[in-house]
Amino acid sequence: MHKNQHNEMPQDPISQQLPNYSRNVQGEGTVIRSGDGRRVDSMVATETVGPGGPVLIQDGDYLSAMQRFDRERIPERVVHAKGAGAFGYFEVTHDVTRYSMACVFSKVGKKTPIAVRFSSVTVDAGAADTVRDPRGFAVKFYTEDGNWDLVGNNTPIFFIRDPILFPLFIHSQKRNPVTHIKDRNMFWDFATLRPETTHQMMILFSDRGIPDGFRHMNGYGSHTFKLVNEMNEVVYCKFHYKTDQGIKNLSPEDAEKLAGSEPDYALRDLYNAIAGKNFPTWTFYIQVMTLERASKFRWDPLDVTKVWPNVEYPLMPVGKLVLNLNPKNYFTDVEQVSFNPASLIPGIETSFDRMLQGRLFAYSDTALHRLGPNYQQIPVNCPYRVRVANYERDGAMNTTDNQDGAPNYYPNSFRGLRPDPSAARSRSSVSGEIAKYDSKDQDDFSQPALFWNNVLDDEARNRLAKNIGTHLSPATPAIKERAVKMFSKVNEEFGVKIAAAMNMQAKSCL
Ligand code: NDP
Repeated sequence: MHKNQHNEMPQDPISQQLPNYSRNVQGEGTVIRSGDGRRVDSMVATETVGPGGPVLIQDGDYLSAMQRFDRERIPERVVHAKGAGAFGYFEVTHDVTRYSMACVFSKVGKKTPIAVRFSSVTVDAGAADTVRDPRGFAVKFYTEDGNWDLVGNNTPIFFIRDPILFPLFIHSQKRNPVTHIKDRNMFWDFATLRPETTHQMMILFSDRGIPDGFRHMNGYGSHTFKLVNEMNEVVYCKFHYKTDQGIKNLSPEDAEKLAGSEPDYALRDLYNAIAGKNFPTWTFYIQVMTLERASKFRWDPLDVTKVWPNVEYPLMPVGKLVLNLNPKNYFTDVEQVSFNPASLIPGIETSFDRMLQGRLFAYSDTALHRLGPNYQQIPVNCPYRVRVANYERDGAMNTTDNQDGAPNYYPNSFRGLRPDPSAARSRSSVSGEIAKYDSKDQDDFSQPALFWNNVLDDEARNRLAKNIGTHLSPATPAIKERAVKMFSKVNEEFGVKIAAAMNMQAKSCL
């Protein structure tokens, strides 16, 4: 936050919200009316018996003000609690209709309204924005065929590949249940017992682990999806959205300083950029893999701990994401926005990526808990370009006509809503013996080795090893040794550097 030379409050757009509001109020403004519409005569005194006497329970203005206040918070998201949002549009720049019939891609030049929520992941709603943590990058496309939610992150991969590990992994990243502080033993114990975390840990502790705000980072759909065209032909696909502002990261030292002086750094940066008409944009790409090539790919193409190499599966440009509108109100537009990877439109489908399958359930479940059964009626979540019509009814806080007099059962003889077979998903088949298979022993190190050898230069490698060593230092000796051993499997030199950062010998860990 920059103060001016007289050390006065900053004049950036985000600091001017209230002066801007007051400029638009006519005359003396509007009188207060309570939730039930009564005019309220005072907001500075309760009703009392004489100036020094007791407060009367008949003071409904006080009672309702306090009751509403007591209920202002809804449950914080267990992950992605701290976030910022913005609105804008997606514009198609390249024709990809040969791959997908999704209406969002139907024509070059077509624009679809979007809502975006950026977030940190493992920290609480009040945390500093400059923590080392993955960043969420979720996009809701309000299409004329319903909402499509692409619920991505700023990393192309994820830590684990089986969704049953998700709550356990997140526990290890959040607060110790006894001490209520983050615990390096928990963090690294889990990570080193599940070596599939290696790849994502390396990205997290690399320079890109602390992005400089939300505008200077890439986004990725991370999972493998399916695209389906008009001929019902299917390909696998990954989504990438690359920043047009250029990648910028914060050094750990600057991040630490900002955490003290400007904890809402990323929120301020995004709001001010948009308010100043410096609209951030991302170029949207797809990678495509035919099912035939997928069957021969040297890695499991549905494993979310792996990428598809760019040379073999080149990024194909599709369009632009543009953010040009700040939220009108944080609670209504950002705290209440809900994303769901199962919100898909014809032409874009899920794959059998296990983490994706797990997420298909988790997101709407969270929204049902946080916002209630009618969360899709909240304007920011509503697929407002279609009319919702189905056999679902009632529930807490229903604010629509509840589908009026239409039959609420099916089949019926009264011209009730009919299914549309043209919305059917593509067909696929699987076979195999049903069991719980631990995915632990898959190849966890060859892609991390490519990252270490081919993507990072010497200085970036040194910073990565130092960042891991510093973070790992408070863990127990056994966990530190296991970590050095794990990262040594990526590259011996990597293990040596991490050990050195902790004043240890890598050899004694192997
Ligand atoms: P390429 O050399 O073609 O691409 C390297 C990729 O790494 C680029 O997409 C680049 O993003 C990205 N990158 C550079 N620095 C970092 C960092 N600190 N954290 C995360 N990503 C970074 O390589 P390959 O496609 O053959 O993949 C090699 C390795 O690169 C992979 O094993 C993976 O670790 C990493 N990677 C690959 C991606 C992919 O989709 N293929 C995506 C991201 C990472 P940019 O172009 O924006 O600079």
